[in-house]
Amino acid sequence: MASQEIETLTSALSRLPGLGPRSARRAVLWLIKRRETSLVQLLDALDAVREGLVECRTCGNVDTSDPCAICADPRRDMRSLCVVEDVADLWALDRSRLFAGRYHVLGGRLSALDGIRPEDLTVAKLIERVAAGGIDEVVLAMNATLEGQTTAHYIAERLDIFPVRITQLAHGLPVGGELDYLDEGTLAQALRARRPMG
Ligand SMILES: [Zn+2]
Repeated sequence: MASQEIETLTSALSRLPGLGPRSARRAVLWLIKRRETSLVQLLDALDAVREGLVECRTCGNVDTSDPCAICADPRRDMRSLCVVEDVADLWALDRSRLFAGRYHVLGGRLSALDGIRPEDLTVAKLIERVAAGGIDEVVLAMNATLEGQTTAHYIAERLDIFPVRITQLAHGLPVGGELDYLDEGTLAQALRARRPMG
């Protein structure tokens, strides 16, 4: 029987995406063996994240400053806005370095199954940003899943009243593909070949 402390840590880790109870237990044992080195580094890194990171009130990115480095960067193209489901998608796209504009993080996707409605996402804030003017193109970079595409269509409809060009990523994306799992070449291609929302 493992101690209560180990059980608590294992159960906390097993809730992380991609980690089940088995790998969580292995990670815990690995950390215990490296109490003085890797565990200390992990604690420091977690502390730094807890204390140093904030959510950008403009785009929803997570960074050490609000507005985030992307929103505050004057070299970014203010006329182009890329809408993504999650911060991980923003980071994946930004790593591809092909998109020079700014982002808007929805905080998820519409899902009848999970009961996620437009008001659970940052849709109203997106509409506010577009309504404020100065934006020519909105790129909808949702995942190529059914829910991602439903979300993209919903947003395209809501933005229809504004004089902006609405495009979406080209479907070189594998069906069911989640952006942050794509290699950068595929992602870059999907962005380069983006097409008007039909
Ligand atoms: Zn931002």
